[in-house]
Amino acid sequence: MTPAPDAHAPATTATPGGGGVRVEDLLARRTGWDRSDAVSRILAAATAPGVLSMAGGIPAPDSFPVARLAEATGRLFAGSAVSALQYAPTPGTAAMREVVAARATETGAPASPGRVMVTAGSQQGLDLVARTLIDEGDEVALDDPSYLGAVQVFRRAGARLLPVPGDRDGMRTDVLEQRLAAGARPKLVYVVPHFHNPTAAVLPVERRRHLAALAERYGFLVVEDDPYGDLAFEGGRLPSTDVHSGRVVRLMSLSKTVCPGLRVAGLVAPAALIGELVAAKQCADLQTNTFGQYLLADLLGDPEFLPAHLAGLRALYGERARSMEALLRERLPWLDFERPRGGLFFWCRLTDPRVGSDALYAHALAEGVAIVPGTPFCIEEDGSRVLRLSFASLDEEQRREGVARLATAWEKALTDGP
Ligand code: PMP
Repeated sequence: MTPAPDAHAPATTATPGGGGVRVEDLLARRTGWDRSDAVSRILAAATAPGVLSMAGGIPAPDSFPVARLAEATGRLFAGSAVSALQYAPTPGTAAMREVVAARATETGAPASPGRVMVTAGSQQGLDLVARTLIDEGDEVALDDPSYLGAVQVFRRAGARLLPVPGDRDGMRTDVLEQRLAAGARPKLVYVVPHFHNPTAAVLPVERRRHLAALAERYGFLVVEDDPYGDLAFEGGRLPSTDVHSGRVVRLMSLSKTVCPGLRVAGLVAPAALIGELVAAKQCADLQTNTFGQYLLADLLGDPEFLPAHLAGLRALYGERARSMEALLRERLPWLDFERPRGGLFFWCRLTDPRVGSDALYAHALAEGVAIVPGTPFCIEEDGSRVLRLSFASLDEEQRREGVARLATAWEKALTDGP
């Protein structure tokens, strides 16, 4: 097939129109502040045909409550679907704001619907928080390694990143305190409190309390991004940092607990900020999709639904994590990792100095299995010997095959040398 002629092509030739200004010369400065294409590469690798993906944080497709969503959709259309197809208020539908406030109250400090905004995923929540609070050059403290999507947002907002090292319990709040005492003044401190992406760490209660006390002392805002808190398969979830301080924005994704495709998440903010966050949302997209809000408000407003659904998720992921652990220990003895207590990830260290994670990644892809090497997650830390494996979306046979392919990739990487 002959490609259609590109009507815009002259803009990038050597003698362009437009008075010699190429279209790419029109880009805003902020587009140059984040040049990472790591997220796109991971998602592309995860969906390439024939590739078994342990790469993305993709929830198990068999975890989606399809029948329950179909029932809610049927009910909506049997009644009056018109309001679900209409524009809705920017902060969210009343019913959705109510269920988010109720869930926030169950898992943290009491929240009223007036402090809730419904966003198109927590990713949008992060972006709106950054747009509303970050001026060029402002400091944002965050774990190192950190969630790639957050790093991207903060970089593009013009923030100076202040990476804080972590350990098996997540962010070292003692190191954060030292940095603050030495003069660092972040506007935001970003944490993923449960089953961190990528490290799977859970921030203990004492560190949450410490973080909250530092927020009170130094005046920053804690951004608590918690997509995995309901996916504990050992122990339970801990109360949100907001029980210790009012200086907390909570991002409550529903992508891992219901499904990501509807793009509906909750954000809970201090009353003094919610108006500005809503103004930013209005500029971005006027509102989150009404139909998705109606469906999710139906599911989450049903007292029978969530407890049973979450119990099912914990059982499913717990079983997959245990099977993955057994396979990794048996087949890949050169990987060292802590058994995750929830979430979707194993964060692994390569114990043999002969192969680094970038080389293993390349060989793994050639063998038809996608992993994520540590480097893109790391800001100052050395990511060359760590990697993230997701166990969530493969079934038993695929998991076994994926681990076998990783074993082959390792052998080939060894022969190739570092
Ligand atoms: N925060 C973290 C830590 C995540 O891992 C993800 C998704 N992988 C998100 C936010 C984005 O979630 P959502 O689908 O709600 O935008």
